[in-house]
Parts: sequence; structure tokens; C-alpha cells
Amino acid sequence: MPEQTKLVEVKNLKKYFPVKSTGLKKTFVQAVEAANFDIYKGETFGLVGESGCGKTTLGRTIIRLYEPTSGAIIYDGKVIYDSEKRIAEKMLPYRRKMQIIFQDPSASLDPRMTVGEIVGEALDIHKLTSSKEERTERIKTLLDQVGLNTEHANRFPHEFSGGQQQRVGIARALAVEPEFIVCDEPISALDVSIQSQVVNMLEDLQENLGLTYLFIAHDISVVRHISNRIGVMYLGCMVEMAESYELCSHPIHPYTQTLISAVPLPDPEKNKTRQRILLEGDIPSPINPPSGCRFHTRCPYATEKCSQAMPEFKEYSPGHYAACHMLDN
Ligand code: SF4
Repeated sequence: MPEQTKLVEVKNLKKYFPVKSTGLKKTFVQAVEAANFDIYKGETFGLVGESGCGKTTLGRTIIRLYEPTSGAIIYDGKVIYDSEKRIAEKMLPYRRKMQIIFQDPSASLDPRMTVGEIVGEALDIHKLTSSKEERTERIKTLLDQVGLNTEHANRFPHEFSGGQQQRVGIARALAVEPEFIVCDEPISALDVSIQSQVVNMLEDLQENLGLTYLFIAHDISVVRHISNRIGVMYLGCMVEMAESYELCSHPIHPYTQTLISAVPLPDPEKNKTRQRILLEGDIPSPINPPSGCRFHTRCPYATEKCSQAMPEFKEYSPGHYAACHMLDN
């Protein structure tokens, strides 16, 4: 069990994107709505939900690739952003500590740069090596850490498979010796046969280097495998959060129950007879989200109250949080 020291604290974090509007009223994509959670040192915190639910935006906002709309972010006890206190720290020193692995490895690598240049760029920006020999040696070590060879340093990204490109992306993130990495759907663009290799490598790196991960994915079976705790998002809101085993074996929010019921079971006979919860309708637009509980337009248990009042995100058993009026009855 990892130590329970908070590395990242997210408080009431909101991220809205303005959209072009024709009238006087400004409109926004309400991508993340008041997220509240902590990530402990050495753990993997999984973030799961349908495509478009705001999990990638939340990950990028935490490391301030996107500027938050409001709320606060505390990293290792230091406030790096607080909209109320008007604090917005310069991020360059924190870029060494907080890194990201992007979803699409080919799009995240500059096609005109060699792998050596891509991995070495971060070393140069942060002045982490003092001689050419040291830089070359460091790049070699990084490539070795992610299962690539020294000779790969002189090749261009298009000469690699998707799995190898993602390894380059991981080496680039590791170059600055970070403490915290946002893994933004790092395996969803890869072949199934390669996915487990990359997940295992991330787990080994975590153990060897003492890393903390925010692991984002839409597939709860993958998140369950790698995460200590999981947060479930729906339409910009965190709806449930608990330890991985607890959340997957005793989901209390109707949306999480739907996600869990869609995970195939290893036993084909049990799989045939199990009851799946099917949601009707599409995910609503985050430009004009439903009033009250954002899930009420698709929830099989919705009542009138659900469309009127947003449920509070509360702790229902130790470490198990959810936002649902039904749980208060
Ligand atoms: Fe469903 Fe209501 Fe609970 Fe929302 S608050 S998840 S609509 S029961």
C-alpha cells in the first residue's frame, strides 16, 4: 500500500472553454465542473468515463497545460494555482516534476526531429546535462529504460511502430526525472497485443522510480488493473471515487454500475447470463448540460429532485465518495 501523503490536491477545479456565440450571451463548453480529489505519493489514480466526459481536460488542467477557469491546485504542499487568492505560479520549475504521456504517440512526436533530439530537448530546456557526452549517455539510459536501443536515437518517429512511438513518448516524459505523470489514455491508440506491454512497463517504472500516476482511460477494466484508486467522471463531474477493488466490486453510483456491468467476465457462461445495464440516449452536450444531476437524462432511477438539485459529492463509507440523491434515502 503506498504512503498516504498528498502529492496533488485538486480543489473545486473548473475548466470552461469559450465557444463562438452569435448573441449577447457568452457560451462555454463546461468541460470540468468543480473537481475535488487528492492524489497520494506513489499511487496510481485512475480516471475513467466515456469519451468527451472531461477526463483529459481535467488531467491537462491539473498540470496547467490548460489554464483553470477557477479553483485551486496544490502540488506537494505548494499552491501552484488558486483563483480566489489570485495565485498562478510560473510552471517551468514544475514541468520538471509534472509530466504527461499523450494519447496519440505519433501526433505527439515532432516528425522532423530524431528520437535523440526529442528526448534530449527536455534535457536542454532544463539544463540537466553539462556536456555532450553526458547528454548522449543520458539519452541512451532513457531509451534503455523504455526498452529501446541506442541506435534508435538517430531514427525518426515514422520509422517506429505505435508501441515504439509510445515508448519514445514515455522516455521524453522521464527525461526530466519527474515525480508525477499524467498518463492520458497512453494505450488506447495501440494494438491490444502491445497494450499490456506498455502497462507492465509503466508499472515497472513506477516501482523503480517511485512515480505517481494519474492514469486516464475510457476502459474501466484497464484502469482497474493498474490503479490503486479510481475516480469516475460523467459530463465534466466526478460522480464516484473509491479504492479500485471497492469501486469495482461495490459501485454505488448508477453510472458506475453501468460501466462495471459492461466489462466482460472471463467465464463465458457467467457472461451470457449476467445482467447488463444499458443506458439510453447520447451523452448530453457540455455546452448546455442538464440541470441538477447531469446524469438525470439517462439515469434509470432519476426522480424530480434529480433534475432540480445537483447532488453533493460525499463520503458514504471510508474512502468511498459519490454524488447521488438516491444514496441519501
Ligand atoms: Fe440518478 Fe438521481 Fe442519482 Fe443522478 S442523483 S445518479 S439522476 S438517482
